[in-house]
Amino acid sequence: MPTAIEEAVQLPKLSNEEIARYSRHLILPEVGMEGQQKLKAAKILCVGTGGLGAPLALYLAAAGVGTIGLIDFDVVDESNLQRQIIHSQSTVGMLKVDSAEQMLKGLNKNVNVIKHNTMLTSANALEIFKDYDFIADGTDNFQTRYLVNDACVLTGKPNAYASIFRFEGQASVFATEEGPCYRCLYPEPPPPGLVPSCAEGGVLGILPGLLGVIQATEVIKLILGLGDPLVGRLLLVDALGMNFRTLKLRKNPNCPACGTHEIKELIDYDQFCGIEKPTSVGPLEAARDKAVADAAIVDGIPQITVEQLKKKLDAKENIFVLDVREPHEYPIANLGAPLIPVGTIESRLGEIAEHKNDEVIVHCRSGARSQKAALALKAAGFTNVHNLSGGILAWADKIDPSMPKY
Ligand SMILES: [Zn+2]
Repeated sequence: MPTAIEEAVQLPKLSNEEIARYSRHLILPEVGMEGQQKLKAAKILCVGTGGLGAPLALYLAAAGVGTIGLIDFDVVDESNLQRQIIHSQSTVGMLKVDSAEQMLKGLNKNVNVIKHNTMLTSANALEIFKDYDFIADGTDNFQTRYLVNDACVLTGKPNAYASIFRFEGQASVFATEEGPCYRCLYPEPPPPGLVPSCAEGGVLGILPGLLGVIQATEVIKLILGLGDPLVGRLLLVDALGMNFRTLKLRKNPNCPACGTHEIKELIDYDQFCGIEKPTSVGPLEAARDKAVADAAIVDGIPQITVEQLKKKLDAKENIFVLDVREPHEYPIANLGAPLIPVGTIESRLGEIAEHKNDEVIVHCRSGARSQKAALALKAAGFTNVHNLSGGILAWADKIDPSMPKY
């Protein structure tokens, strides 16, 4: 074993410019020259450059972490800017990894940014992870969360984890040698559709900022070997009450990842999470499939396109259009239809009983909630229920471009 001093000798040297830049770290005895050199030597992979990844990567770069890997396959969209502060107005439409690199390099030219412009999959995760010291998972879906967890356990890389929803967040450090992993806490994913995503449920823009900074703090503590990282603890953040609580987590001896080690390789996480895989098809097939899907019947509910609805409305056909979104969505954009939120539909059937035998067309934002509502109406004896495919977003895209999208 090399002594601390020998180890320090092998650490990269700081230039005079770096010494000036990091002076507030260097005068902290807990960090000092050796700590700053450890930060420079560290290689951290940020999974996702979204709401959590933005403050995470920015603070790691500012702190002098030498190598920051960014993995993302998306492009910057205007709706990202409410929380993803690593991107900016001028980089809308750019690849997120390029946009993020630009911001990080602007903050600290000494950082080596490694871009992985790809979706993290079972096929590439182990290969990508092996070059990094620590992983920081800032993704927003269960497939990637379980994939990151299992890849961290298999490669022995600790994972500084956080997740957010609406006004609440949680953070922990998983997959250390002594501590539990994500699967110790949640062995199985929730059924698909039970937990809405941030795109469906919304998120307060500052919240990922709060949680991403906590992730960055944990990463820096891990690099420096300082303090008590969130190993074996789950931090729960309630932004509305501004309450922070920690729950004790134990390593689960029956955990298939870190307990029994029955997971010896990465699995198909889409299947594991009950997500149907999109088949890769060419543009012609895609157009044909889309036409078929638009006309198709899903679970016994005929789907109707926005073009078909427009025709019916223009011809003043005797149809009943029902909006099943939430009241706060209505002022953003609406088709003038009566509103009964999907969660209340079964208790409010009396209000629309007169339309039981009419042609009913149910719509929501994108077509998922209205499908559920259509099934409920059909089960309640409505005889001619259709779901508006693509919802009001499709209406804004194809019929009324002046309508705002959200
Ligand atoms: Zn485990």
